[in-house]
Amino acid sequence: MKGKIVGVSLGPGEPELITLKALKALQGADIIYCPGTQTKSRSRDILQALPVNMERVRLFHVPMSKDRTFANQAYDALCTEIASLVATGKNVAITAEGDSGFYSSVNYMFDKLASMNLPVTTVAGVPAFIAAGAISGLHIVKQKLVVLPGTTTAEELDALLSNGHVVVIMKLSQCTEEIHRFMQKSPCHEYHYYENVGTSDELHTTAYNDITRKDFPYFSLMIIRPCKQLA
Ligand code: SAH
Repeated sequence: MKGKIVGVSLGPGEPELITLKALKALQGADIIYCPGTQTKSRSRDILQALPVNMERVRLFHVPMSKDRTFANQAYDALCTEIASLVATGKNVAITAEGDSGFYSSVNYMFDKLASMNLPVTTVAGVPAFIAAGAISGLHIVKQKLVVLPGTTTAEELDALLSNGHVVVIMKLSQCTEEIHRFMQKSPCHEYHYYENVGTSDELHTTAYNDITRKDFPYFSLMIIRPCKQLA
């Protein structure tokens, strides 16, 4: 008898932003794989605040480097481990922050498991930028929205915002200089900066001078709305 594998989206940080379906999936799992290190894990912080059996949680470390070779090796080893658990009838959950289908590296693992004939079903979650809009009372978009990863450039941002697009930038720590360069050139836009949404370290600011001087941590994102004349 084979166990099941489910990818469980935890939401961005605030434990109450998990869905009921995700909580039930966690409670039905024999083993819960959760990204992080012994000292730091956003996913574990969320799980600890929920009615989940923490003895079932196994942390896995994912190397953060842009070169994904080591990360993929770690994922491959994990998939082999999961395959043997499923073969003995264990139900396995794999957690992801925000929504598991949105900029989430666990998808590498989901694809790998599928190729091993072990399909993964996923449970939807609240993405961080949606929670960011809510904490700041922002009507994120009325017309056109583009979501970009941290590989964006000042030129790409300029083209999109000049065309009236609202832009969400994920993984901000990877493009700090480009964001600062763009903001210097285009002070007229509406800049909303967020960090650690839904946690006790949460920060939201629209203060231009603060954002242009800031270093961006890993859990940060930006929503830029075009100047009123361009929107
Ligand atoms: N699956 C996640 C995104 C994972 S990629 C989602 O649905 O939102 C990781 C990036 O997400 C981070 O670099 C950051 O840009 C953003 N992020 C995730 N959680 C966040 C939080 N609590 N506060 C601010 N940004 C967050």
